[in-house]
Amino acid sequence: MKKIDKITTLGKMMLKDKITSSWDKLLTEKPQGDLMVFYKKRLEHFWRLPDLEKIIGKEKAASAYAAMEEVDVLFEDKGIKPLPPPLGQNAFKKLLREASSSRPIAAYIHIPFCKTRCIYCDFYSTTRSELKSRYIHALCKELQMRKEYLRGEPVETVYFGGGTPSQLAEEDFREVFETIRKYYGMEHCREITLEANPDDLTEEYTAMLQQLPFNRISMGIQTFDDATLKLLNRRHDAEQAVKAVHHCRRAGFNNISIDLIYGLPGETDDRWKRDLQQAISLGVEHISAYHLTYEEGTRIYELLQAHRIHEVDEESSVRFFSTLMDTLDNAGYEHYEISNFCRPGMYPRHNTSRWKGIPYLGCGPSAHSFNGDSREWNISSLEDYIHSIENNCRRFENEHLNRTTRYNECIMTSIRTRCGVPMDILQQKFRRELWQYCMDMALPHLNDGKLEIRDNHLCLTRKGIFVSDGIMSDLMFIED
Ligand code: SF4
Repeated sequence: MKKIDKITTLGKMMLKDKITSSWDKLLTEKPQGDLMVFYKKRLEHFWRLPDLEKIIGKEKAASAYAAMEEVDVLFEDKGIKPLPPPLGQNAFKKLLREASSSRPIAAYIHIPFCKTRCIYCDFYSTTRSELKSRYIHALCKELQMRKEYLRGEPVETVYFGGGTPSQLAEEDFREVFETIRKYYGMEHCREITLEANPDDLTEEYTAMLQQLPFNRISMGIQTFDDATLKLLNRRHDAEQAVKAVHHCRRAGFNNISIDLIYGLPGETDDRWKRDLQQAISLGVEHISAYHLTYEEGTRIYELLQAHRIHEVDEESSVRFFSTLMDTLDNAGYEHYEISNFCRPGMYPRHNTSRWKGIPYLGCGPSAHSFNGDSREWNISSLEDYIHSIENNCRRFENEHLNRTTRYNECIMTSIRTRCGVPMDILQQKFRRELWQYCMDMALPHLNDGKLEIRDNHLCLTRKGIFVSDGIMSDLMFIED
């Protein structure tokens, strides 16, 4: 019993019935397509655990191994690429540890084009697609101009974000990859993500992407409710979203992330549950879910001010968040960061680097970079960006990060993760004074069960996760 208790704390998916049901489904129901991928993957995550035999018994484990081999043959016949090996239970900690090294390993490429603007979005992007090819040249030139920024260290993750990177054509991507290869090298790249809009992810487009170095797709689905998608001015509908995931799978992508938004106008418990069920049924490896925020200057903010739409009340927001955590937990997702969930071991390396505060290079208008000492951000205007780069000059602002700012950033990012704030690193990096400050401020929250110390890390509890913003601001140090 003790053993099972210990295992359940590592993830409910490891419960006997989950493993057994995946095994049964593979053997008896012989699911096809994405469902087969899902059950195989679910089982595969326990595949190497020595506990598997202990949980489902030696006999079943042996049959499961045999079934897996059968499925592998089926996969091969269907031309589906083998799944990456599971990273194991301590993988997230390991990733964070790796990320603690001061090596700069992440590159962010901003693609600022959107076909249309969504009414809630305050990211920098433009609908001026006629500037695309000039922009790609400028972007490549910026990559070249800043080749020393990473001090010759190998890039391990590349993330194309936007905007809408899936608005680019094959030759655009090839030009960017060629430049990265030439000036930074790509031999050490382990994760290359493309942010995409579902309506761009047609069969042809995903097949083209598969020929490029991408190995992860992150798509903004937001909701499966067509009326709400229309209200948000999204270009896709629910059917296109589902098809997009299928197209990616068929093209061979086995690391897919989707974004959802909750607390949208008119959101009900039922609608949110339906969205989550739909997301789960797609069997994606990663789900990000954010509460809608009404940012000043956006169209949705104006609608709110004009009382044409209404904000969901706080009680509902809390309920939606509870539903999110419970539903995804029951479906076997790990809640590894406040807004992020993944299948066991499928932690995105790119996000992990950023949360850990390791240096990264960001290129394109409005893109941020961080080299350990200072942060800089490019000008947020496509035209000015192109013009300045074409004239061999880069327009950006920067800020030197002092010890307090770095401490605050460390708190802001790490408290959001399941691992929490590493107290030993805090002490090493920021000396005893800030460590003591953090402990003093944490004390009331530790006493009322909103924070706990696990493994020398300061972590949010389930109770604390609902008030994480308040706790975070308590822990942050404000200089006089
Ligand atoms: S597609 Fe993405 S970046 Fe473009 S407007 Fe919509 S939310 Fe913003």
